[in-house]
Amino acid sequence: MISDQELKTNIERVKRNIAEAAARAGRNPDEILLLGVTKTVEPEIMQKSYDYGITHFGENRVQEYIRKSDIVKRDCSWHIIGRLQTNKVKYLDRRIYLIHSLDRISLAEALQARGEKIGYVFPVLVQVNVSGESTKAGIAPENLKDFLLSISKMGNINVRGLMTIAPYTNVPEEVRHIFRKLKKLSVDIAGERIENISMEELSMGMSGDYAIAVEEGATIVRIGSAIYGERIY
Ligand SMILES: *Cc1c(COP(=O)(O)O)cnc(C)c1O
Repeated sequence: MISDQELKTNIERVKRNIAEAAARAGRNPDEILLLGVTKTVEPEIMQKSYDYGITHFGENRVQEYIRKSDIVKRDCSWHIIGRLQTNKVKYLDRRIYLIHSLDRISLAEALQARGEKIGYVFPVLVQVNVSGESTKAGIAPENLKDFLLSISKMGNINVRGLMTIAPYTNVPEEVRHIFRKLKKLSVDIAGERIENISMEELSMGMSGDYAIAVEEGATIVRIGSAIYGERIY
C-alpha cells in the first residue's frame, strides 16, 4: 500500500508538472482539473488523497463507484471515465458530476431515460477515437458532428466537450498530434453552434502523457498510477 508521504509527494509532483506545462503554453493552471483515477484504489487512500488536494475521483466501473461513494466520507465529485455498459446506467444517480465516455446512441438513449426518471441532466463528454485504433471505443472524428446532432435534442443529457485516450507509448511526443486533433475538433464543433452542445471541456492526458495534453489544451487530465502507484488487479 502506498505510504502517506509517497501519496503526498506524487500529488505535489503532478500538480507542479501541470503548472509547468500550462506555463509553457501560456495557460492558467487553474483552468485544468486534476482528476484522480481511483479504479482499484481503496476508499481510505482516496480520502487521504482528498486531504492532499484531489477532490475529483474517476471510476471506470459503476459498481465500484456505487460501493465507494457510500464509503468515502469527503465532499468530492465523481466521474465515470471508462466504457459504460447500457445495463449499468440504471445505477447512476444525481451525484455523477461528469461522464467522460459517451460513445454510442444506445448509451445516450439509456442516459436520457435514466435522467428523466431521476430528474437529472447528466453532464457528459463524447469519447472520440482520434487514433482510429480498432481496440479503442469512441466516435470516429468524421462521424462526430452527426452524432452530436442526433443527441442534441435529448434534454437530460448535456454535452460539455470531448474526451480521448491516446495510444499507449513510451514516447509521449508521439501522441501530441492526437491531442492537437481533439482540440481542433472541439474548436470546429463549437463553431457549428449546435443547440445544447458546448465544447468547454477537453478530457485528455493520463499518467504518461498529461504534460503534453496540457500543452495542447486539456481542461481535465485523468491521472491514476502517477498518483496512486501501479494498479494491482
Ligand atoms: C485507467 C484510466 C486512466 C488513468 O490511467 P493512468 O495511466 O494510470 O494514469 C485514465 N483514463 C481512463 C479512461 C482510464 O481507464
